[in-house]
Amino acid sequence: MADSLLLHIDGKDVPAADGGTFEVRNPADGGLLYEAAAATAADVDAAVAAARAAFDDQRWRGIRARDRARILNRAAALLAERIDDYARLETLQIGRPLREMRAQLKRLPEWLEYFAAVAQTSEGSVPDFGPGHLNVVRRVPLGVAGLITPWNHPLLITMKKVSAALAAGNSLVIKPSELGPAVPRHLAVLLEEAGVPAGVVNVVPGLGATAGRALSEHRGLAKLDVTGGTETGRVIAANAGRALIPVTAELGGKAPVIVFDDVDADRAVAGALFAAFIATGQTCVQGARLLVARDRYEAVVSALVARTRALRLGDPLDLGTQIGPLVSENQRNRVADAVSRAAAQGATVLCGGRAPDGPAYAQGWFYEPTVVADVTPDHDLWHEEVFGPVTTVTSFDSEAEAVSQANDSPYGLAASVWTRDVGRAIRVSERLDIGIVWVNDHHRIDPASPWGGAKDSGIGSENGLDSYRAYTRQQSVVINSADETFDWFASADELRYS
Ligand code: NAD
Repeated sequence: MADSLLLHIDGKDVPAADGGTFEVRNPADGGLLYEAAAATAADVDAAVAAARAAFDDQRWRGIRARDRARILNRAAALLAERIDDYARLETLQIGRPLREMRAQLKRLPEWLEYFAAVAQTSEGSVPDFGPGHLNVVRRVPLGVAGLITPWNHPLLITMKKVSAALAAGNSLVIKPSELGPAVPRHLAVLLEEAGVPAGVVNVVPGLGATAGRALSEHRGLAKLDVTGGTETGRVIAANAGRALIPVTAELGGKAPVIVFDDVDADRAVAGALFAAFIATGQTCVQGARLLVARDRYEAVVSALVARTRALRLGDPLDLGTQIGPLVSENQRNRVADAVSRAAAQGATVLCGGRAPDGPAYAQGWFYEPTVVADVTPDHDLWHEEVFGPVTTVTSFDSEAEAVSQANDSPYGLAASVWTRDVGRAIRVSERLDIGIVWVNDHHRIDPASPWGGAKDSGIGSENGLDSYRAYTRQQSVVINSADETFDWFASADELRYS
């Protein structure tokens, strides 16, 4: 493990202007992993200036899309070689079990490959402007984009944003989460090894209240792209509004998992378990509300509780571990508080609801996977995002009630619908006010498939063609094809063009 992490500005690793650092600790045992340079407002300024210089001199956006794509494909190949090292590093920083980290990171080269292909096939248009003119509309990069990312999938979320933004020709300043800043910086170096010119990708690790704030308030940006909590998103989107720049915001969620009575109970339970407890429940699309048709409720809930109790907690580096620690003491306190408030408000904790006993867990931020019943819309737990291994279970009597329970949330990021009835799957998904709906599945993602939420879950989307377009603006070029001179003021009394 490196003993320090520096800022990466204009192709160079540099300390913070004031020499400040912060500690990154292993949530499984509390041990110090490394000290990271804490970017100040002056460092953010330097990073934006480097990115702007790279944009202005065309060193990246001026390269033909086909050649940019070659470099991104080279980066994809380099990334594939380093997956095991990065997965281990991510696990050490955020505590997510290594078996999951490896499975997730193995997919990441696909993002670079997909957006490399999009850049090469992206085309402008020629709208009708009438005779005498040709209107060419092309897509041009925006300029310097500020990317602010969370800790829960440090490299996946960075990769989603970076690959679209770079393919379109932008320059970047990335502010990774203070809880997992190492791999985004390694990615910047990897991209330079693949041929992205220095200055195009800059990384400023630091705290949200200082580096994040300085970046989101910086007037040198042409776009802000944030993934994080809803309140963070509101602050950053307000800053983007003041600067009149576009914002993409991927924020919180409280995904319902809707199980109808025609589905096999074992399949539904396996799906609910996967939805609720992958990443120790710390994902924005976590299946946090299991809604079950009344005549399947008892069978599904008792099997879910039995399987939840059997999940293996432990050292996240151990490939047999299924549930790691939560990312930090704060996060564990937040989860424990949400569960005890629910119990105080009348809910029933069916399993979990506590930190595990034993020396193996004593130094880490572990919390048992938890299933809570009897949660009503009057309870905080019905609405609030816990961001941990906690799911609620509720029954419904009809398709309409299932839809209304699912939509009864400030969030609208994701849902899964479990049924063998195709018509019902279509009807329900059409009525959900939710951005991503899986049928008989959960958590699936692909670089080509749009990812974004409704309501308090954010603005805009990642992945897919729209996310590429959101890193461009249209430039409309109107070309006059007439040979004769157009002279409006040649004669004051002649209304030739009336
Ligand atoms: P967070 O909001 O605490 O932090 C996200 C990033 O914003 C970090 O880099 C942080 O340093 C920075 N930040 C914090 N305050 C800031 C401020 N005032 N100004 C500028 N930057 C600031 O979120 P987190 O705890 O890292 O991540 C968990 C949250 O992210 C959850 O709510 C989760 O649902 C959400 N999330 C959403 C998606 C999605 O795709 N919709 C994906 C992953 C996580």
